Amino acid sequence: MKKLKVNTDGCIGCGACFSMDPEHFTCNEEGFSIVKSEENIDLASIRNVIAACPVDVISYEEECTCDDCHCNEESSCGCNETSCTCNDNEKAA
Ligand code: SF4
Repeated sequence: MKKLKVNTDGCIGCGACFSMDPEHFTCNEEGFSIVKSEENIDLASIRNVIAACPVDVISYEEECTCDDCHCNEESSCGCNETSCTCNDNEKAA
């Protein structure tokens, strides 16, 4: 399951993300970033936005491709497949 997240509590409101990618990010009433949309995400573009965040509070969980994935059933995947990226994504989030 893919999920775009911003830890708004850690955002300093620099505006980089919603300037670079206004389709997917906007700011709340306090001027801090929030996710606007998760539709039509281009991986290369979203990686550029993540890299541009000075406080590293944006994350994008990439789709797990393991054969026995439980991403959609559990918050933590326990499949033990070597190709599983679910838990890596949780660490990176
Ligand atoms: S780039 Fe990072 S710090 Fe700047 S507004 Fe976006 S989430 Fe906040």
